Amino acid sequence: MVNLINYYSTNLNSPKVSFREALLKGIAPDRGLYMPEVIPQISMAEIDTFSSMEYYEIAYNIIKKFLHTEMEDEILFALVKDAYNFEVPLEKVYGNKYIMRLDQGPTASFKDFAARFMGRSINHYLKKENRNLVILTATSGDTGSAIANAFYGLESIKVIVLYPEKEVTLRQRKQMTTLGKNIQIISIDGKFDDCQALVKTAFSDKDLDHLNLSSANSINIGRLVPQIVYYFYAFAKLRKGKNDDKIVFSVPSGNFGDMMGGVLAMKMGLPVDKFIISTNSNDEFPVLLRTQKYHKIEPSKNCISSAMNVGHPSNLSRLVALYGGVMDEKGNIEKQPDYELMNRDIFAVSVDDETTRKTIKETYNKYGTLLEPHGAVGWSGVNKWLENNEKHEKKLVVSLETAHPAKFPEEINRILDIDPELPDSLKGLDDKPEQIFKIENDYSSFKQFLITSNLNN
Ligand SMILES: *Cc1c(COP(=O)(O)O)cnc(C)c1O
Repeated sequence: MVNLINYYSTNLNSPKVSFREALLKGIAPDRGLYMPEVIPQISMAEIDTFSSMEYYEIAYNIIKKFLHTEMEDEILFALVKDAYNFEVPLEKVYGNKYIMRLDQGPTASFKDFAARFMGRSINHYLKKENRNLVILTATSGDTGSAIANAFYGLESIKVIVLYPEKEVTLRQRKQMTTLGKNIQIISIDGKFDDCQALVKTAFSDKDLDHLNLSSANSINIGRLVPQIVYYFYAFAKLRKGKNDDKIVFSVPSGNFGDMMGGVLAMKMGLPVDKFIISTNSNDEFPVLLRTQKYHKIEPSKNCISSAMNVGHPSNLSRLVALYGGVMDEKGNIEKQPDYELMNRDIFAVSVDDETTRKTIKETYNKYGTLLEPHGAVGWSGVNKWLENNEKHEKKLVVSLETAHPAKFPEEINRILDIDPELPDSLKGLDDKPEQIFKIENDYSSFKQFLITSNLNN
């Protein structure tokens, strides 16, 4: 009989909870992030069995270790089979250097992996308990569409997404506004920060308690656990023999949820040689590893890898916790982590826009590998790590591509003079009718909308 895993708050001032509770709560009462108290282990023998499995079967075996008896085996199996019904291509660039394309889901971003598991598992618990929930999310583009698509059609959940009217691309907007059913999209005449402020005010408004508002942003542990899976998948599928006993991953990072999936995989027993963590010019993390001093970047810098324009990554407190330290939600380090160990596991590098563009061009011309800006930041990190290190040349390296190039047609066209082919998921969007609610940029209008729009039916 295995013991249930409890989840503790990184601020160490909240009661420990079950996976279900951590999932439905999102954030701990002391504003810390939930982490598993014990990290389940996987043996090499078990990892070897993954090499002949489908992606969803690997997902089942890994996620099960975090949920134990909190979800029946058959239900979890059906859930991941339904969530992961798309390809996860491992594309050779040269030698044993690969790109893992995490961009084949319904919104063509890696956020689909997390959002699809999270939506289905939340819905499972709500149905069982006969409860309803309203998910409120502010988006600057990618998160809103991944959440809206993942929660689309789930009976127990309504989703409301707020976006800044003038700050999302047409393609991003249509990915949200053409869905309908339980998805309501609100355009705000303001900035992303205004949307976020409206959402936050609603969460703390007692008049709205009866609506059961919740959030689906990347601090939820339910978004982290599914991001462990593809690291195991890549290793199991690519390992060819004794030369590949260890693997190197390059992860283009913003809020560090993706990287946390990888680090958790390593702590579970995946033989990782190194994580190359590449940021854009928002370089607070590479600076932290180099100087052991943390300074957030406010306001964050605008780079072409826009989903990574994060000046204070919330998942950093989880990484610090895994290395024995304590960092609160504001970024104050109350107990230093083991930097020596961190620097052994992680090579952190910052990549500017000029290098990102150059990498897109070179990788395409030299190898025929098409990258978009986020994936190109990751690949630039691989180049930097290989520089001056001949002994790295033979190593098995996998760099993550986190979005489909067709999501950034303007930039790709400017650099390469080609138009990336649309994946099926993005086709036909242009002709579908949109439904958008337009709301003034003030809280009383938003509150009025929430109260009168029959959310609990
Ligand atoms: C969100 C996002 C990232 C950053 O992932 P984090 O988990 O926040 O580090 C990278 N690329 C794309 C395309 C994204 O949408």
